[in-house]
Amino acid sequence: MSNTDIKFFSDNRFRAVFRYCIRDNKYIGGFPDFIDRSSAVSEKNYDVDKVFNYIGVFRIHQGAGKVKEIPLDVFNRDWSGNLSLPTYRIRRANALIKELGYGNEFKAAFPTFEMGPNGGVEVLFLYEKAAKFKEISKDELNGIGFPTVMNSEVLLMRAVNAYNCIGYKGEYAGGFPTYLGEYNPIYAFMLTKGFCSYEEIPDIHDFVQMFDIQGFSGNFSEHIKSALCEVVRKLDRSQHLKPVEKHKLVDEVFKKKAVRFRPGSGPWNGFTPVIGGEEIQINQAQFSTITSTSSPDFLNLCQTVIHELMHVAGYDHITYNPSFNAYAGAGCTGSSTGVPADAWNYFDSAPLRAECCINGNQNLMINK
Ligand SMILES: [Zn+2]
Repeated sequence: MSNTDIKFFSDNRFRAVFRYCIRDNKYIGGFPDFIDRSSAVSEKNYDVDKVFNYIGVFRIHQGAGKVKEIPLDVFNRDWSGNLSLPTYRIRRANALIKELGYGNEFKAAFPTFEMGPNGGVEVLFLYEKAAKFKEISKDELNGIGFPTVMNSEVLLMRAVNAYNCIGYKGEYAGGFPTYLGEYNPIYAFMLTKGFCSYEEIPDIHDFVQMFDIQGFSGNFSEHIKSALCEVVRKLDRSQHLKPVEKHKLVDEVFKKKAVRFRPGSGPWNGFTPVIGGEEIQINQAQFSTITSTSSPDFLNLCQTVIHELMHVAGYDHITYNPSFNAYAGAGCTGSSTGVPADAWNYFDSAPLRAECCINGNQNLMINK
């Protein structure tokens, strides 16, 4: 798969947002709001301090519902939909509540856009306390100055959330259309505030959520996924990398490469066998005490991941020497005062400076 194939309204974006949200165990799902925040479209929503484009996401909280796997033949029964069409999946998931007799327990449904362990379609079913059914008519949309011709799936998603802000005066956290019916009125579910919250995330999550992470033991691959989320969160506002370096990382790695993470072992915690290649090796044994995202080992892992990603982007550094250790962190200060030339050369290189983005420091463990 080429990463550049990911489109604005696509199952890949829904999948990426779902994966992003469940990285935090407070959430069991989520979906994008599809409000375009690029400078060309919206000056109001555009923040000049941000390098990346942002998307809004609604995170669905623990307790709002339950994920169930629906066998493929049941999901596709009597329908001729294409699973890669988000509207089909959402519409079908909501139709299933009645069809499967789930009505007493669940009121709304949103697909996770993942396959279940048995090859079925995963759907997050929501309790009534989390999702209120609403009908939004053409006249009501007219009343808030919203275009009433609902000729795209994106417009419907926006209409529901615009109506929440103005029509319902922000009573709900957000909402989504079921895509059932003829769209006048729009059938929608509004998510209650205790079970849903909003966040803006850089749209490059679309790409990092698709990286290929395999071969690790225990739940270590989950830690790598969490580290990738943290790297993206920290990358944009950090001043440690130059804009040209950030753009190279985004354009040459996130958008173009099928980056793979594999286990490796050696006197290092991370290693990129080929500068400019696609494989990153992580020495799992070096990160033995990750209990939460504030564990020092988790921060070390984040530093390792971003360091190696800079190697994938094509940046390199001189060979590490133990005599450099006394100057770790110098690359985050921007000052070479009192630092020997070779140590400065090392700590001021793009991969080492990238480590500063995580918590303003550089790793003393060796990242090759
Ligand atoms: Zn390195």
